[in-house]
Amino acid sequence: AFHHSSLAGKVAIVTASTDGIGLAAAQALGKRGAHVVVSSRWQTNVDKAVALLQSQSIQVTGTTCNVGKGEDREKLVQMTLEKCGGIDILVSNAAVNPFFGNIMESTEEVWDKILSVNVKASFLMTKLVVPHMAKRGGGNVVFVSSVAGYQPMQALGPYSVSKTALLGLTRALAPELAQDNIRVNCVAPGVIKTRFSSALWQNEDIMDDFKRQLSIKRYIGEPEEIGGVIAFLCSEEASYITGETITVTGGIGCRL
Ligand code: NAP
Repeated sequence: AFHHSSLAGKVAIVTASTDGIGLAAAQALGKRGAHVVVSSRWQTNVDKAVALLQSQSIQVTGTTCNVGKGEDREKLVQMTLEKCGGIDILVSNAAVNPFFGNIMESTEEVWDKILSVNVKASFLMTKLVVPHMAKRGGGNVVFVSSVAGYQPMQALGPYSVSKTALLGLTRALAPELAQDNIRVNCVAPGVIKTRFSSALWQNEDIMDDFKRQLSIKRYIGEPEEIGGVIAFLCSEEASYITGETITVTGGIGCRL
């Protein structure tokens, strides 16, 4: 029987989805019945993720895609259209952080890289998929920001600013895409146990600081706890939510 959490018949592109939060989002969408298209830079990682999802009876297609490259983004969308016949959901999850240090030490190259992958590519992916969502009568876009987008993290200045920009991108796109029945939302995770954040959760001083800010006394979140929220935002259960960011931080206060 139909349920509002069901994503049966939907096609979902999740960028950077062979590990961590992206993989968990693909799993959560797939468990709700969506056909998920997974991708990342390396074919070996794509193959592993496809095999894992298939072993969980999830409908899945995989390809390589470095979101920083225009031709890769176009290839991802074209392959999805050819293999799945349309696009209903985009989860823009990819991000890089090539720089740790005082923000005044960051270079133009660092800024170009971070803004181009984390912000510009998120917009350009959205621009590519929107006409196809419109053809299907609507769809959902979810960006992955960060608690750092609200409160810049020490030594992660440029990355934090890129995550603040995604909060703005969500709000800038939502009214315009509502005309095509596309909702645009965002999740802002706290500290989640993945390879990307290992420099944080392996550092006792940093974690002590986080522990003071957290309400939930299980200090580190799991990727599945983000994946489920992303799938919720893409489902009919969230049909009246757009332009919103849900913080998933274990209770760290988030305010701009
Ligand atoms: P992760 O577990 O390290 O996974 C990163 C994934 O991204 C891998 O599948 C990797 O595969 C892929 N990837 C890396 N660069 C890529 C690129 N240029 N194009 C396409 N794919 C790329 O990372 P994560 O922690 O889940 O992070 C995912 C998102 O969550 C990011 O936007 C991050 O900013 C955000 N976030 C994470 C945390 C946290 O605590 N973990 C907190 C807040 C926000 P390949 O190496 O094969 O490309």
